[in-house]
Amino acid sequence: MALIVQKYGGTSVGTAERIKNVARRVARFHAAGHQLVVVVSAMSGETNRLIALAKEVQASPDPRELDVMVSTGEQVTIGLLSMALMELGVKARSYTGAQVRILTDSSFTKARIVSIDESNVRADLDAGHVVVVAGFQGVDESGNITTLGRGGSDTTGVALAAALRADECQIYTDVDGVYTTDPRIVPEARRLTTITFEEMLEMASQGSKVLQIRSVEFAGKYKVKLRVLSSFEEDGQGTLITFEEDIKMEQPIISGIAFNRDEAKITVLGVPDRPGIAYQILGPIADAKIDVDMIIQNVGHDGMTDFSFTVNRNEFTRAMGILDGVRQQVGAREVVGDNRIAKVSVVGVGMRSHVGIASKMFRTLSEEGINIQMISTSEIKIAVVIDEKYLELAVRVLHKAFELDQISA
Ligand code: ADP
Ligand code: ASP
Ligand code: MG
Repeated sequence: MALIVQKYGGTSVGTAERIKNVARRVARFHAAGHQLVVVVSAMSGETNRLIALAKEVQASPDPRELDVMVSTGEQVTIGLLSMALMELGVKARSYTGAQVRILTDSSFTKARIVSIDESNVRADLDAGHVVVVAGFQGVDESGNITTLGRGGSDTTGVALAAALRADECQIYTDVDGVYTTDPRIVPEARRLTTITFEEMLEMASQGSKVLQIRSVEFAGKYKVKLRVLSSFEEDGQGTLITFEEDIKMEQPIISGIAFNRDEAKITVLGVPDRPGIAYQILGPIADAKIDVDMIIQNVGHDGMTDFSFTVNRNEFTRAMGILDGVRQQVGAREVVGDNRIAKVSVVGVGMRSHVGIASKMFRTLSEEGINIQMISTSEIKIAVVIDEKYLELAVRVLHKAFELDQISA
């Protein structure tokens, strides 16, 4: 008998029929003698619908009130799935995040889990119930409802698996595993049978939305056995997220290509080149709690330099507003912004022991006439910023150049 946490995403619970399908799968695991905690997302499209509705009423919705209403999507699916399980003769009980007591901080819309009280869930499991938990939501010290950021149900699943010391956390979604890149963009993308935590962390942080980045962090920290599977397929093996020491020798150098269109670039031109400039520009951005991703300061000439960085597109207008004031203070010539950029990253632990990956990436892009605007690297990743209009082309040619279509699953 194993304790398994299963998480089902929005598409997997998108209709009453699909919820019944999920119930049948859960019932099979339960009948095989396993204890099951099932985390569900809102029905597909529901979270987007609720956010749009909020914006119709308040242009920038109050974060506390937004969380109160956006979290309702998951409350619908826990009730429905519990009913579907009962219809199959399985004892089931639903829990909201607050009912479990998934305690978070008070950063509405992007709260972090602080602790999970697993005692009630455990008691229900021991009494033979399937426990159905609402993903994406928690509660802060004062009893306010919070949400964990888009895609946050993955994190609920992994955090519950960690708190319960589950044998495995299974993330069921609309693809049958983690692919070399998003199969919606590159049909030749291949499913990976395994990927290391580090690579998955880079893939997620560089834009592969198949797993929310915090869920991967949690799984790595608490050594949760994590697998991504399809909810539309029987008996698939999916992709297992592994620790590097477990992987086989013939691991490819590059495991995947991630991309995102969520960033915008800001350049401060004609900045006096003197100590403290980076701090003077980025300090007010950090004070406004705007995350900065890539940063480039050019070589100075004639006592002047240019300074570029990227922020999330949602924060672009706010960041430009802040920099307007900063420009005058630091005596810069001009601030220009571009929110039509995209970031493409190649990821692989094999980069540590192989040279020439960067040059191959740059050559491949140059052969297509794609200009690289910014570059950043880590030990296992090379990321470039390019014009958004070349994104799909860049991902396709890099996928081919690194022979990711040849990987055998
Ligand atoms: P869910 O609603 O189940 O949480 P998501 O839409 O959040 O599902 O994540 C699954 C989607 O992630 C897939 O449909 C796929 O388009 C996208 N995706 C992006 N990158 C990858 C990748 N490398 N491997 C698999 N899927 C990916
Ligand atoms: N329903 C939430 C979202 O759409 C959480 C999730 O699906 O993981 O972001
Ligand atoms: Mg998701």
